[in-house]
Amino acid sequence: MRDCDAIVIGGGPAGATCGALLAEQGHRTLIIERTQFPRFHIGESLMPDTYWVFKRLGMLEKMKRSGFVKKYSVQFANAEGKESAPFYFDEMNPHECSQTWQVLRSEFDHMMLVNAAEKGAEVWQNTLVRDVLTDGGAAAAAGAANGGPPRVRGVIAERADGTGVEVRSKVVVDASGTTALLASKFGLRRPDPKLRKAAVFAHYKGARRDADPRDEGATLVLQVQEQNGWFWYIPLQDDVVSVGVVGDIDYLIRGRGKPEQVIEEEIQRCPVMIPRVANARRVGSVHVLSDFSYSATRCAGDGWVLIGDALTFLDPIYSSGVLLALQSGERAADAIDAALRSGDTSGARLGAWGDDFYAGLQRVRKLVYAFYTKHFSFGRFNRAHPEHRRNLVELLVGDVFRAEAGDIFETMKRYCDLPEEIRLEPSS
Ligand SMILES: Cc1cc2nc3c(=O)[nH]c(=O)nc-3n(C[C@H](O)[C@H](O)[C@H](O)COP(=O)(O)OP(=O)(O)OC[C@H]3O[C@@H](n4cnc5c(N)ncnc54)[C@H](O)[C@@H]3O)c2cc1C
Repeated sequence: MRDCDAIVIGGGPAGATCGALLAEQGHRTLIIERTQFPRFHIGESLMPDTYWVFKRLGMLEKMKRSGFVKKYSVQFANAEGKESAPFYFDEMNPHECSQTWQVLRSEFDHMMLVNAAEKGAEVWQNTLVRDVLTDGGAAAAAGAANGGPPRVRGVIAERADGTGVEVRSKVVVDASGTTALLASKFGLRRPDPKLRKAAVFAHYKGARRDADPRDEGATLVLQVQEQNGWFWYIPLQDDVVSVGVVGDIDYLIRGRGKPEQVIEEEIQRCPVMIPRVANARRVGSVHVLSDFSYSATRCAGDGWVLIGDALTFLDPIYSSGVLLALQSGERAADAIDAALRSGDTSGARLGAWGDDFYAGLQRVRKLVYAFYTKHFSFGRFNRAHPEHRRNLVELLVGDVFRAEAGDIFETMKRYCDLPEEIRLEPSS
């Protein structure tokens, strides 16, 4: 048994961000990761606003020196194959941050974790967190019988050789991704019933790339026929392109063949994709993920905080996952730092950033709902309401935490069924 100030469960982008910033503030920080990095992960396209967290983390120069493909824009094509003009991120506020990257996640996540270790975080890999230590033992930990989850005091982990270890800490941060260890344990996880989606994806080599270096790294979002789904097309380094199709679970995986067959069938239903991959060969296996959209009902409690996908995951359509992981990791680190300094690690203190974060999240969620509204088209909306183009581009850049960016939805709701706001329950 040992003890520290903060334990972070999971060494992905959210955990590495939070762990780095806490260690930098001088807090004894332990990041526990169940795998050995580098490891495969999906989620390769970044949003430009990741720039600001990279800058604070000291990652910016490392990103610039990396071999990651530069991304300047995103482009959409409808089910008939009609392509929109690209949305260039420097259209409104040209800045160094208008360019971002398409990252190989095995490499990127490894760089982030090494960065956290360089800032002073201790990192244990190949170590699985099995459970958390709580006040009141198993009965209290099992649920919210007495009005909420109990105080968390540390974790119970297991090394690769099967050895068990208990570590006590003042704060436990759950950054375990879609495992969502704490939200599941405390019954806080709510799926989004309107976003029951699946994704089937793989890497290809030799796919067609744009000759213009400014467009070569663009993310393409391509609808399949009858709007039954959409493809991402994300150019990576070493001539690799990440290709994935997303659709309703009932359409994409129930009663369909093997994933290899599904992705090939869907490519044939996507007019813009066919010529792009005509001469490409698949490298590696085809992956399937499903039912990934959910939110936790609160972001913190006494002695614990949720960040990244362990708090919420919306949908892959706008490539917002890593940005939200970085943003929540940073905001949580600042709240934990203040809490540790004051000696008050109550949920109210640890979750002080949650409402503002969820307000930004709602803006992305509304855009997601708009995208999935049959017969709604961003191209047509843009032409009908040029006054909103600035807001739209800024949302696509990731500038989602500014209230004015949400003005667009007053007009958009005339065309789409936008979701009700999700509000966080109080963290205390
Ligand atoms: C189909 C699909 C496509 C996507 N595309 C994009 C995209 O293009 N751009 C984008 O920004 N986002 C994308 N995302 C989302 C993105 O992948 C995630 O939002 C992002 O990885 C979240 O980071 P994280 O650190 O919260 O979680 P993760 O990156 O999942 O990291 C969590 C870590 O916790 C570890 N862990 C889990 N349980 C335990 C445990 N019990 N003990 C110890 N360690 C544990 C895991 O091994 C993992 O390394 C996509 C998601 C999906 C489903």
